[in-house]
Amino acid sequence: MTLIDDLRAAVGAAHVLVDGDLSGYEVDWRKRYRGRARAVVRPGSTAEVAAVLRACAAHGTAIVPQGGNTGLVGASIPDDSGTQVLLSLTRMNRVREIDAANLAMTVDAGCVLQSVQEAAAARGLLFPLSLAAEGSCTIGGNLATNAGGTQVLRYGNTRELCLGLEVVTASGEIWNGLTGLRKDNTGYDLRDLFIGSEGTLGIITGATLKLHPQPAAVTTALASLATLEAAVQLLQLAQSRLGAGLTGFEVMGRYALSLVRTHMPQLAQPLPPADWTVLLEQSDNEGEAHAQALFEALLETALDRGLIADAAVASSLEQSNAMWHLRESIPMAQAQEGANIKHDIALPVSAIAEFVATTDAALSAGFPGVRLVNFGHLGDGNLHYNVQAPEGVDATVFLRDHEHAVNTLVYDAVGRFAGSISAEHGVGALKRDELAQRKSPVALGMMRAIKQALDPNGMLNPGRVL
Ligand code: FAD
Ligand code: ZN
Repeated sequence: MTLIDDLRAAVGAAHVLVDGDLSGYEVDWRKRYRGRARAVVRPGSTAEVAAVLRACAAHGTAIVPQGGNTGLVGASIPDDSGTQVLLSLTRMNRVREIDAANLAMTVDAGCVLQSVQEAAAARGLLFPLSLAAEGSCTIGGNLATNAGGTQVLRYGNTRELCLGLEVVTASGEIWNGLTGLRKDNTGYDLRDLFIGSEGTLGIITGATLKLHPQPAAVTTALASLATLEAAVQLLQLAQSRLGAGLTGFEVMGRYALSLVRTHMPQLAQPLPPADWTVLLEQSDNEGEAHAQALFEALLETALDRGLIADAAVASSLEQSNAMWHLRESIPMAQAQEGANIKHDIALPVSAIAEFVATTDAALSAGFPGVRLVNFGHLGDGNLHYNVQAPEGVDATVFLRDHEHAVNTLVYDAVGRFAGSISAEHGVGALKRDELAQRKSPVALGMMRAIKQALDPNGMLNPGRVL
């Protein structure tokens, strides 16, 4: 039997796509990577995933798992050899169980993040993971990349929101590690091995997720500031006043918001342009009025201390949503401006202001006229520190000529400040070579040993991460 015959036997002929327009599976979200699949296979159950992996193992065929294909590091599409099988999990989209008393829910890996949030909300509970791609990314993809997003400050990364996993191994065995336990110290943590492994160690088919009680009110505010140092001081003030009630603290640079103004003029910007604008989110267990009063008092103190120049507290859910919409529109506005060099970096919060000042200066000196699109999850020390070609310079040409040098400058600086070259997007193909150069040989050696143990023939998402 040919590979295609075996795949058809595994999932049914209708779910093995070999011709027609497969670009939705073969081109990544940023349109930076294009591949060609031998076939796109769309299993409907864990048993079918296992059958696909056994078939691929028998034929020596490599597999690239894919969820919503919103990943930003070129790891969710096949290479251009035309030999790899693209395994799409999106037909596996069932909520299996909600255990409200245990604050846990078990879902298929192909569930779209927003549908998971909605299923929890329908039971009066909160699944806090939240990111701009939530309408199309899947929980399997979130786990495979250990996605961060806008609520990490309070609730943690996807890793902190996962209790158990179901995984199909490279040889096609099913590991049922679905559990709602908060405590389980029975040996190595296999769950945490697969989280963040970007499809290179196994196929995640199901997950038990951690839920939280819904807060009584969630409200947001914007504040404008002259310096990033002031933003860090505002963060400390907000943390001391609001404690765990501070659920989001996002920063947006002047140029980042100007791109939204240019490309999405219909979006209202409540505050006049400033060097830095911060979005604060507060979750409150008493109610809207209580939350607003806390915000007003906090922002008044910040004004008195000269930390902020201006502020606006949302007075309705619509206004809160509009504030978030502004922040979440930056990636799209920036894409509309043209290709750019992305850096998803983590730094100690205490080092961020100095990092940005010195690295901005070095970039401007080395690449005159470059435009710095700076925004991110300041509360987590995570910046999206992106570099756009100078005005009037063709972005493709700029990237071709300077991407490597820009990356070296930025990542060397990240290293000096004890940061990370990938905070939340992962390594994929984009940062594989940087990782090989910058991670310690001991760490890389252990990573390779794990890969060798779980995928000895290198069939799972080859060429990504390692
Ligand atoms: P895909 O893109 O399909 O895949 C991502 C990786 O996971 C690939 O390596 C793939 O092989 C692997 N994979 C997918 N499913 C499985 C599975 N079931 N088993 C094993 N491996 C699998 N990310 C953040 O962390 N924070 C953000 O704030 C954020 N904002 C974003 C905003 C926009 C507008 C966009 C487009 C992306 C953003 N991202 C963000 C990146 C992206 O959305 C996340 O990485 C997301 O978790 C990817 O999910 P996905 O289902 O689309 O995965
Ligand atoms: Zn982000």
